Amino acid sequence: MSNSFDYIIAGSGLAGLSLLHRLVQDSQFAAKKILVIDGEQKTKNDRTWCFWEKGEGIFEPVVHHSWSTLSFFTPEFSKIFQMQSYRYKMILGDDFYRHVLDGAAKNPNITFHTGNIVKIYTEGNRGVVQTDTDSFDGEYIFNSTNLFYPEITTENSLLQHFLGWKIKVEQPIFNPKEATLMDFTLDQKHGTTFMYMLPTTPQEALVEYTLFSPEVLEREEYEGELRKYIREKLQIDSFEITHEEFGIIPMSLARFERSSGAEKRIINLGTAGGFTKASTGYTFYFVQKHLDDLVVSLRQGKSPALSKTFQDRKYDWYDRTLLDVLLNKKIGGREIFAQLFKNLPPESVLAFLANESTAWEEFRIRHSVPLTAFIGSGMRQLF
Ligand SMILES: Cc1cc2nc3c(=O)[nH]c(=O)nc-3n(C[C@H](O)[C@H](O)[C@H](O)COP(=O)(O)OP(=O)(O)OC[C@H]3O[C@@H](n4cnc5c(N)ncnc54)[C@H](O)[C@@H]3O)c2cc1C
Repeated sequence: MSNSFDYIIAGSGLAGLSLLHRLVQDSQFAAKKILVIDGEQKTKNDRTWCFWEKGEGIFEPVVHHSWSTLSFFTPEFSKIFQMQSYRYKMILGDDFYRHVLDGAAKNPNITFHTGNIVKIYTEGNRGVVQTDTDSFDGEYIFNSTNLFYPEITTENSLLQHFLGWKIKVEQPIFNPKEATLMDFTLDQKHGTTFMYMLPTTPQEALVEYTLFSPEVLEREEYEGELRKYIREKLQIDSFEITHEEFGIIPMSLARFERSSGAEKRIINLGTAGGFTKASTGYTFYFVQKHLDDLVVSLRQGKSPALSKTFQDRKYDWYDRTLLDVLLNKKIGGREIFAQLFKNLPPESVLAFLANESTAWEEFRIRHSVPLTAFIGSGMRQLF
């Protein structure tokens, strides 16, 4: 096998495979020699991705469940709302991996390699990926490993950490049309703390205990909180855990660069490229939007190293300001999200959090949060 390729996809998780899927589907890339490298085979159901979008996305065929009604709870205020144009969607990791890998397996120009990547660098106008045993070069390296992550510290980042249980009960008690986006009726002693409750059938739901805080908890604490919520809030005494998911997502003020190296041959995707939203941890939807634009650029023979637009910078600033407020404990996440959902149409809050809001919606959002808590953070994050 020659070790030279057109494109090398370094890391075949969400972002790497989302790119691969687009390249496989587009006949313009049919002749491109593509290498996909990962340290592991993607066969496990290691992620459940949830996100909201309007209409149908590229991964609609593997949407496991979607909801048009969402609920939001705090001790003082609750809202149950029917979405107009957005749908909240769930995709299971193993469905996603299988869908992309099955589609790519038929393409003779795609090579898969399992190996631990130790270094990615530029040599002349080629990118080079070095694993424990081999070295490969390509016109572009699409990287989603953590090799170029900035330093994540407790000063610049919070962790979004969660334990989720998919539970099954004997009696049909869930409403699979309505999902709980955030239930904040929980103790906030560790920081911003809430439950997701996502029913997929009348007898099954994913319940996820989620926190934004500097450090992860002992495992027993997540489990205790989940049991308490299921017993007291959902009033379920007997249930079976059919799947479990633990995750840590960095919510960071550190700068994740979109490309590395002077020649911009190394393009960072996914979390590595800064596509995890700093203020919420949501990533799936932002990865898809970035890759749509990246593939258009590649198709036009232009560089896939996309500069940030004015819109990107504006939403970065909103995110960084919100995260700065949370990091400096000026006001809790529960209070912020409660103010937003109380004062604005929920669809406007979702549009804002999806980086799709109008100027009027942003004006209303800026005026619905306490100015004193936000002004210093906003100023600091301008520079
Ligand atoms: C459990 C969990 C649930 C999540 N749920 C949501 C959600 O509901 N909605 C949402 O928007 N976001 C969610 N996220 C956040 C985000 O969408 C995921 O983390 C997503 O997988 C990020 O995509 P990625 O491609 O950047 O990284 P990954 O999907 O982690 O892919 C990186 C790939 O690189 C490989 N790799 C890394 N280092 C090396 C190396 N040195 N050598 C070889 N291979 C390497 C890994 O094996 C992996 O396959 C979740 C995250 C987790 C952990």
